[in-house]
This record gives sequence, structure tokens and C-alpha cells, in this order.
Amino acid sequence: QAKNLGRSRYLFFDQCLYENMLGKLELEEKLRHSLEHGEFSLVYQPIYQANGQRMVSAEALLRWPHATPDVFIPLAEETGLILPLGLWVLEQALAQAKAWRDQGHDIVVSVNVSHSQLHQQQFADKVRELIQASELPSSSLQLEITETALLEDWQGSIANIQLLRDMGVRIALDDFGTGYSSLSHLQQMPLDCLKIDKSFMARVHESERDKALVEALVSLARALSLKVVAEGVEVEEQVRIAKALGIHYLQGFYLARPKKAEELSFNPPSEPGPGASASAPDVRSG
Ligand code: C2E
Ligand code: MG
Ligand code: MG
Ligand code: MG
Repeated sequence: QAKNLGRSRYLFFDQCLYENMLGKLELEEKLRHSLEHGEFSLVYQPIYQANGQRMVSAEALLRWPHATPDVFIPLAEETGLILPLGLWVLEQALAQAKAWRDQGHDIVVSVNVSHSQLHQQQFADKVRELIQASELPSSSLQLEITETALLEDWQGSIANIQLLRDMGVRIALDDFGTGYSSLSHLQQMPLDCLKIDKSFMARVHESERDKALVEALVSLARALSLKVVAEGVEVEEQVRIAKALGIHYLQGFYLARPKKAEELSFNPPSEPGPGASASAPDVRSG
């Protein structure tokens, strides 16, 4: 009997493992199929000058009909599919930036890069090829990297980033403040810009402590001669405070949600185009 029990436990365990694996294989297969059949798409979220109202760049954000990025990006990373997928994103985003430029909009396209991409030895060369094919200046492209991506393979990542920066690509540190890099790491990173994570912005207008923390991040950026983007700006109060703290650029639902390229409005949020909501914000106020 004991033997039977042990065996059924074993079977149960195997069953779980099997189902788990099947789930992953199925999802991986689904992701691969989607990449081959053009089921991925990009949306773009504008980034505005805090003073003035110009849309200076747009962040490309990946969309998949079957799950949110928080779910499928880690999966794509785990399965290695992020490498071809990441190249697809870069190619698409550069083509879009070229189209904007041809329409007279000089906008930097900002693309998120995964750690496995950044750790590839040939990554900088691949980006160079894609930029050349796009006929855009390198300065039209910004890459968003995270602290954890860097720390996993410091030498390799820094080498790639240095190559990219030398060719004129801009580098932004995404979700700044949520990682574990030390000040000395930060000092050694060849960066142009820090994107303060939205979790720091969330209560900046309600909590003196959070405001003081953001203020500290801004002075850190200033000491390193870096530009600062505030992510996750959702209410007008946050705009006012971000401006008062000397933050250079703003991104968030209050100003604009991520949209399909063809739905994007180049009008400043204070002068909404047709179809914009009546309660459109005014970045200039405050
Ligand atoms: P992220 O790079 O930090 O992107 C910003 C996320 O914040 C986006 O979520 C955006 O929709 C959201 N967001 C923007 N403004 C606001 C706001 O005011 N309030 C709130 N609550 N959220 C706001 P999304 O599109 O779901 O993307 C999530 C994450 O997935 C991204 O975080 C990025 O890490 C990753 N991701 C998206 N696209 C790509 C991609 O092409 N490649 C890679 N490697 N990662 C990507
Ligand atoms: Mg980002
Ligand atoms: Mg971010
Ligand atoms: Mg994030």
C-alpha cells in the first residue's frame, strides 16, 4: 500500500511537471507562430518636454493579443524568442521613426531592450545594420535598458552600450530606482537619460517623503549630467511638481496613452486634436 501511495505521488508530481512543460511549450509555440504570422504589434507612447509642449520622442511598446507584456516578455526571454522578437521591434520602430521623419516630425523612437539582447556580442553591430538600413541618423534611436540587465553581464553590456553610444544612439536607464546598481556602477554607465520609475511618481503629489526621494534622484541625475524623464504621470499635480523639481521630460496617461502609430497625435496635449477628450491636460499650466 505504501508502495502504491508513493507511486501515485510520483505520478501526480510527473503530471504537474508535464502539464507545466506542456503549457510552456504551447505558449512558446504560440509566440513563435505569432512572430511568423505578424500577430505582434507596437503602440507608441509620447514623451513631452516638461517646459514647452513639444513631443520629443515616443516609446515603442509591444502588444500581443493573448497576454500583457508583463506576462509574455519574461516568457519570450525564457524561451530565447526575445532575440528575433527584439530585432523585429527595432526594425518596426525604426521604420516608424523614418515615416514620421518623412512627414516632417523629428521624433526619437525609444525601444526597450532585454538583457539577453544586450548580452549578445553582436548586438551593437546588429543595431548599426538596422539603423543603416533605415536611413535614419543614429540619434533618432534611443534604447531603454534596465539596471538588472546591466548587472547580469556587466562587461558585455557596457561594451555594447559604449559601442552604441559611440555611434550616436541614445541610452536611457529605464525604471530607475527599482534596481540594485550602486552609485559607482551608475557613474560608469555610458548614459544619456534616467527614466524615474512610475512607482516613485505615483505619490509624489501626496507624500513629502516621495517628493524628497524624487528630488534626490533628480539631483543625482544632474550630478551625472543626465536628462530625466518622469514615467507614470497620471494627474496634473504630478506635472506641476515634476516641473518644479527640474525634470526635463514627462510621460504618462495624463499626457497621452500608448496608441497605434496611425492614431498618434503630434499636437501638444494642451491643444488636443480631433477625437481627444474634452478634459485634455495643459502641460504649460502650473
Ligand atoms: P516600461 O518600459 O517601463 O514601459 C512603461 C509602461 O508603463 C508601459 O506598460 C506603459 O503602458 C505604462 N505606462 C505609461 N504611462 C503610464 C501611467 O501614467 N500610469 C501607469 N500606471 N502606467 C503607465 P506596458 O506597455 O504594459 O509595458 C510593460 C513593460 O513591458 C515595459 O515597461 C517594458 O519593460 C516591457 N516591454 C514592452 N515592450 C517591450 C519590448 O518591445 N521589448 C522589451 N524587451 N520589453 C518591452
Ligand atoms: Mg521603457
Ligand atoms: Mg519604465
Ligand atoms: Mg517597467
